[in-house]
Amino acid sequence: MKKIVMFVSVLSLILNVNLTFAKPADKGFKLPSNAIEVTPNVFSLGEAYDMKSHKLVQGYAIVHKKNGQARGGNAKPKGSTTCYAVMANGAKWKNVEDWEVFPGAGLDGNFLLDRLTHSINTWETAAVNQNILGSGSLGIGPVVDPYTLDNENQVSFGTLESGTIAVTVVWGIFGGPTSNRKLVAWDQIYNTNFQWTEDALIETGKMDFWNIAIHELGHSMGLKDIYNSSCSDVTMYGYGTEGETKKRDLAPADITGINILY
Ligand SMILES: [Zn+2]
Repeated sequence: MKKIVMFVSVLSLILNVNLTFAKPADKGFKLPSNAIEVTPNVFSLGEAYDMKSHKLVQGYAIVHKKNGQARGGNAKPKGSTTCYAVMANGAKWKNVEDWEVFPGAGLDGNFLLDRLTHSINTWETAAVNQNILGSGSLGIGPVVDPYTLDNENQVSFGTLESGTIAVTVVWGIFGGPTSNRKLVAWDQIYNTNFQWTEDALIETGKMDFWNIAIHELGHSMGLKDIYNSSCSDVTMYGYGTEGETKKRDLAPADITGINILY
């Protein structure tokens, strides 16, 4: 009996040691296990108490997938098709908060800061020069868990689910009286399982950061994905792929969409 007990304790010691060594150095930014898919590629993160506004807010992770087959080439939106959507009427930024970017995927920090700032300006100009997302800086210190409500609006790189290009997380009030709705926080993660480039016109086999970032920033401001394949040229179309650059500027439908909110 003693031998068995000793064997078990030695075994558990070995297992413990192995478990310690088995922990991955980078756990990545995969969706939390309690996230619930409420509409395709939109995951509810539940409710959290916002310390700033002293209100209960809801969190959503909006997943941007790669799907080359759904790309419509030169397809133009048909006149009768609505190629924009908002997460909820009135769910927009009502105060200005700054943000920070943490470099990754071999891209230069100043390039990332410049393209994010430029893309925010593109949306803000479309919304007739409103200051919606404030100004950015290079991140210092650790990246806070992007799926938890916090006081930082952070853009970072990390490992996401296979086939996911990027995820934008937004927190806000999306229900109840329209006038009470608002956005209170956002974060973005870009998947390092893909190769990224400053310019996919040159490196056509990689993800164009500018092309993807301006789409993600549309979510940060309250816009929803569009999955109608006749809308495949608009910036808020739900799928992206390597080498794509046509979303760097906004389509008329994107401009209509941002003007519904702001
Ligand atoms: Zn999206």
